[in-house]
Amino acid sequence: MHPLSLGIFQNQFTDHFPGDETGNPQPRSTPGMLYSLTTPTPVKSPLLLAWSNDLAAELGIAFPNDSDLQILGGNQITASMKPYAACYAGHQFGHWAGQLGDGRAITLGEWQKPDGGFAELQLKGSGITPYSRGADGRAVLRSSLREYLMSEAMHHLGVPTTRALSLVSTGDGVMRDMFYNGFPEMEPGAIVMRVAPSFLRFGNFEILAARKEIEQLQRLVNWTISRYFPDINGEEKILLWFEEVLKRTAKLMVEWMRVGFVHGVMNTDNMSVLGLTIDYGPFSFLDDYDSNFTPNTTDLPGRRYAFDKQAQVGQWNLGCFAGALAPLVKDAQALVAILENYATTYWRFYYEMMAGKLGLDEVRDDDIAFILEWNKMLDNLHPDMTIFYQLLASMDAPSVEHFNDSFYDALNEDEQLILMKVLTQYHQRINTNHINKVASQEKMKLSNPRFILRNYLLQQAIEFLQNGDDSLFNKLQIAIKSPYSNANDLFFVKRPDWAKQKAGCSMLSCSS
Ligand code: AMP
Ligand code: MG
Repeated sequence: MHPLSLGIFQNQFTDHFPGDETGNPQPRSTPGMLYSLTTPTPVKSPLLLAWSNDLAAELGIAFPNDSDLQILGGNQITASMKPYAACYAGHQFGHWAGQLGDGRAITLGEWQKPDGGFAELQLKGSGITPYSRGADGRAVLRSSLREYLMSEAMHHLGVPTTRALSLVSTGDGVMRDMFYNGFPEMEPGAIVMRVAPSFLRFGNFEILAARKEIEQLQRLVNWTISRYFPDINGEEKILLWFEEVLKRTAKLMVEWMRVGFVHGVMNTDNMSVLGLTIDYGPFSFLDDYDSNFTPNTTDLPGRRYAFDKQAQVGQWNLGCFAGALAPLVKDAQALVAILENYATTYWRFYYEMMAGKLGLDEVRDDDIAFILEWNKMLDNLHPDMTIFYQLLASMDAPSVEHFNDSFYDALNEDEQLILMKVLTQYHQRINTNHINKVASQEKMKLSNPRFILRNYLLQQAIEFLQNGDDSLFNKLQIAIKSPYSNANDLFFVKRPDWAKQKAGCSMLSCSS
C-alpha cells in the first residue's frame, strides 16, 4: 500500500494530446485543446469524512496521512501529477450546448494499480477551471455525500459505475440557491475523489467533431480504443467500437431498470464511453414504482429523463455519439445500421434481466407479453419496487395480503383484482420452470436488491452529519456493501410519509 503523496503518477492523456498549458483559469473556450492544465484551488481545513477501504485496497493506496489529506482537499499536488480539466461538449435536455468541460472536476493523474492497470484519480469540487462558465467550481457537502455513497452503493449492487475513494469537507462555505427561489444560503463545501479507468464521455468526442478537429478526433478514437478496448482492431475498428459502446450503454440502462435507478441528467456529457454510471446529481431510486418518475426538478414538465425513458434516451445519446464518429468512417450508414440495432440489443438484455427478477428459468415467447403486463400492473398499483420483489421471492401461492406491506396506499377492490390476476398468471408460469424452486429463488435473490440507498436516507444522513452526528452516515456506509442480504433489515421499510414531499427526499434540483 502506497501513500498517495509518495505515488508516481502517469499522465498519458496529457502527454498524448494538445492542451492549454498556460494554467490560466479564466473561463473561456479552448479551441484546439482537449484539456487545460489546472491546479486545484486550496481550501481552508480539509477533514476526512469517509474513505472507501475496499477501493483503496484495489488501488493499493494507503489510508491517508496528513500529507495525503492535503492532496484529497486540493491543497497540494505532487511532482509527478499534471492536473487538468478535460474539455468536452454535450447535448443537454435534447439541445446542443456547445463547450462544457470539467467545470469543477480536476484529474490529478493516472495511478498504477497493483494489478498493473491504471485508474484516473479526479477531485470533484476542487475549484474553478477554464470550463467553470462563471460558476464557482465547488460542490456542497450534501451533493458530495450523495455522490460518494451512491457510487460505492452502485458498485456493490454490481452496476457499472465510477467509484469514490474519499469524501473530504473543506471548511469553506459555498453559496447555493438550493430551491432556485432567490434565497441563496451558505452551505458547507466538500470534495470527492472520484476514480475510474477513464472519465471520457460522449461529449469529449462531440466537441472535436463540432470544432472540425478531425485529426485530433481520429487520434482520440485510436487512443481510446487501444487503451480501453484492446481487443478491438482492424479496418472496421471504429464500427466495432461503436457497437461495443452501444452494447455497454444498453446493458447499463438495463441494470438501472433492474435496481430501479433514475439518473436524472442523462445529457451526452454525462454518458461514459466505458458504459459506466457517471456524474451523480439529482438521481433517485424508485420508492413507489412509477415509470414516469423523474427525480430532477429541472426535468419537469417534460420528464425527458424519467425512469422508463432512460433506455430510449440512451439510444438518442448514442445517435449524437455516432454523429461525432461519422467523419471518421467511410460509410456513415453503417453507424446508422448499428444504432438501429439498439432496441434488439436492449430488449434481449432486458428480458434476461427480468427473468432473473422474476425467477424464470428462461425467457419464452409468451413471457414477453407477460413481462409487459407485469410492468403495467406495477405502474398501476405503485408498490414499493424493492419490497414488492422481495415479497415475491417468498410467495408460495398467489395472495394479495402477502404484498400488503409493499403498498403506500391500501388497494381498492379493482386493484386487488388486477394484482390477483397477474400473480395467478405468474404462479402458473413459475410452475412450468425447468429449474427447482430453490434455484429460482436463488436467481431472484441475486437480481433483486433488498437494500437500496433511498433519497430520504441520504437526506437524513446529510442533515444529521451537518449537525455533528455521523451515526446514520456510518450505518449507510456499511449497508451499501451487502445490498442483497438481509443484514440491513433495519432499513427494509418503505419511504416514510413525511419524506414524500420534502426536498432532497424525493425530488432534487441540480443545485449542487
Ligand atoms: P452536470 O449537469 O452536473 O453534469 O454539469 C454540467 C456542466 O456544468 C459541467 O460542465 C460541469 O462541470 C458544470 N458545473 C456544474 N456545477 C458547477 C460548478 N459549481 N462550478 C463550475 N462548473 C459547474
Ligand atoms: Mg456532468
